[in-house]
Amino acid sequence: MHLVIIGNGITGVTAAITARRLAPDARITLVAAESAHHYARPALMYLYLGHLRYADVKPYADWFWAENRLELVHAEATGVDTAARTVQLATGPTLAYDQLLLATGSVVRTPGWPGQGLRGVQGFIGLPDLERMSRATQGIRHAVVVGGGLIGVELAEMLHSRGIRVTWLVREARYWQSVLPPEESVMLEAHIRRHDIDFRTSTELGEVLGDAQGRVRAVATTTGQELPAEWVGLATGVTPNLALARAAGLATDRGILVNELLATSAPGVYAAGDCAQHRQPAPGEAAVEQLWYTGRMQGETVAHTLCGQPTPYRRGAWFNSAKFFNLEYQTYGRVPAQPEAGLASFCWQHPNGQHLLRLNFREADQAVTGVNALGLRQRQDVWERWLRDKTSIGTVLAQLAAANFDPEFGRQHEPAIRREFERQFPGIAVAKPRRKGLFG
Ligand SMILES: Cc1cc2nc3c(=O)[nH]c(=O)nc-3n(C[C@H](O)[C@H](O)[C@H](O)COP(=O)(O)OP(=O)(O)OC[C@H]3O[C@@H](n4cnc5c(N)ncnc54)[C@H](O)[C@@H]3O)c2cc1C
Repeated sequence: MHLVIIGNGITGVTAAITARRLAPDARITLVAAESAHHYARPALMYLYLGHLRYADVKPYADWFWAENRLELVHAEATGVDTAARTVQLATGPTLAYDQLLLATGSVVRTPGWPGQGLRGVQGFIGLPDLERMSRATQGIRHAVVVGGGLIGVELAEMLHSRGIRVTWLVREARYWQSVLPPEESVMLEAHIRRHDIDFRTSTELGEVLGDAQGRVRAVATTTGQELPAEWVGLATGVTPNLALARAAGLATDRGILVNELLATSAPGVYAAGDCAQHRQPAPGEAAVEQLWYTGRMQGETVAHTLCGQPTPYRRGAWFNSAKFFNLEYQTYGRVPAQPEAGLASFCWQHPNGQHLLRLNFREADQAVTGVNALGLRQRQDVWERWLRDKTSIGTVLAQLAAANFDPEFGRQHEPAIRREFERQFPGIAVAKPRRKGLFG
């Protein structure tokens, strides 16, 4: 069996390593255009910040691939003939495959603003972007970041670390409002502004303005304001990379359409990770998942199917984490941005604006359904268990220390969290903490 995988991101690489374990005799080839070896994409910003070197963000040593008989081809795949089962490379020979996995990731999404092609205007998704950004931001004084969300905050932090004045434009009325409830947005906006970022909500980019040499010099907002900018970062989201799937004639929508085995519309061709779109996602789950851990899970799952052990993809409880400057964010389960009928939402905030805990639970049976934590580190294994077991909010509050990654911290805030819960929900009993004396 010759398995060809396009893309050496977390999805493709997890699939390759899993397949090697399950099928010791298979020939496995990884084709990748961006880099010769796999690297951790979420760590890109730390290269710019100078906290890590490129060698530090490669999870596997260069000898690992040959040692595990994983053949690496550093080239772009430009076409697939699904009838002949061959992949066309931009350089080098055509590759014949028995099974093909597309793990082509995402590309930057931009609405097509006038002037977005000027020099010094770019998205941020991979190594070439990091290199362009590093060169273009040397010695500059003003930059503009466009678009809320997680890549926006990374860009703001990166620029800020080099003493560059950052103006950050967000079209929505509040930060990441499609994902976060209002209290979280407000807390993060204040936190971002404390880092000297000129953060502007309800402000939309109208046009990017250039100088005579074709370099960006300013941006104009839709209300006609002109802001100086020697560099503009576009953080308006990513979208599945469909170029190869379209060239292959596969069925696509927003992403490459796959069934629960991650099989595409062509026999022997699978798609997973950021580029895939589930035809029938489970209730409450997203059709397109663009996260590191879901890429890893999809890669591992599809490898089983590719190796003759058909395995449906089941994501399990939702999880995400991020960092907003020095403030950590974690979410487990479902925490909708807007109130929902039948769902109660308890939110505690420390008066210093550095810590927030939101616990959502069903009104009917008080089973906890999700948590948002800002500035509080929670244990994933504990939350997964509480969500799976439909643990009651009263029990969760009593046992909150068990979810604390940092028990020192728990000693300071858990009594206050419980007192606030009893104030907001006087009708719901909170069980006594399990270990007497732990909560001060
Ligand atoms: C700056 C940044 C920070 C992020 N931070 C986080 C985070 O903190 N947590 C989190 O959960 N997620 C984060 N993400 C998202 C996460 O990195 C992605 O969800 C994940 O990398 C997707 O993995 P993938 O393997 O599906 O695709 P990718 O990692 O995008 O890899 C796909 C690879 O395929 C290659 N490729 C595409 N087409 C071809 C072709 N035709 N021929 C050859 N090669 C091809 C691409 O060049 C690319 O290298 C971040 C993303 C970015 C951009």
